[in-house]
Amino acid sequence: MPELKFMVKQAFLIFSCALAFTATAQESTGGGFEESLMEKYPTENMVEGVWDINDSLSVIPAYDDYCMWDTRNIHSYDFDGTKMVEEVDIVLRHDACDFHHPFRGKITSQFGERGARHHYGIDIKLRTGDAIKVAFEGVVRISQYSRTYGNVVVVRHNNGLETLYAHLSARKVKPGDHVESGAIIGLGGNTGRSTGSHLHFEARYKGEPIDPNTIIDWELGVLKTDVLKLSADDFAYLKSARSKKYHTIRSGESLSTIARKHGTSVNTLCRLNGMSKTSTIYAGKKIRVR
Ligand SMILES: [Zn+2]
Repeated sequence: MPELKFMVKQAFLIFSCALAFTATAQESTGGGFEESLMEKYPTENMVEGVWDINDSLSVIPAYDDYCMWDTRNIHSYDFDGTKMVEEVDIVLRHDACDFHHPFRGKITSQFGERGARHHYGIDIKLRTGDAIKVAFEGVVRISQYSRTYGNVVVVRHNNGLETLYAHLSARKVKPGDHVESGAIIGLGGNTGRSTGSHLHFEARYKGEPIDPNTIIDWELGVLKTDVLKLSADDFAYLKSARSKKYHTIRSGESLSTIARKHGTSVNTLCRLNGMSKTSTIYAGKKIRVR
């Protein structure tokens, strides 16, 4: 009976992914997506060099969760974690070797509110050139230079998580590369929007950021649990994070003109941004107005 239940579940997953797959294929602009993987991992079922749905499910990690593989856009999922109905079990480790700590060092910035914006990762101080290891086995989805993240690598794991490693000085992997836990995916650096060499690490589920502290003890460099129970509670913080509104100061503006423009008060602006009425503001600075 359990086997039958599993088969029914698989059939449903294949069906739902097949629908999504057809939709993506029609809208596909070609290149950069699954095509690159198809060349790299040819299978027996391929027709005219294209995988069938079972091939996608077997080659791409957690394809049943995502139904897509995008090697160009870092964040392209439209999943809303705050609306998760059921709790999901994310198996982080079967064996001791299933996890390697990405980099052990001093934590310089935590996940959570940071000034005017939410910080969706954790920052670890390092020296440029330090080796960065991938936390879990997986397939590299993104390896590119981004204006904000600098040199960034994103790896999709079988358990459905994606981990992101940013501000690297060098990338050592390409999209489609299969990596074992502990493989060096790049070298630490100070690229992109970064002041000082550090690793910015994110853990995401279908694009939604999870507090990396729920998974890893960053002081000790060990996993906190073998199975992460993920629910809407883990994403509840997004409701307030997303209701925030920002304003980029233009020359000639003062706190009172900005307050009037956004229907708020100078006191509220000061509270939201941790500043006083006499704090200096300058053109180009981004402040939170809601
Ligand atoms: Zn960061």
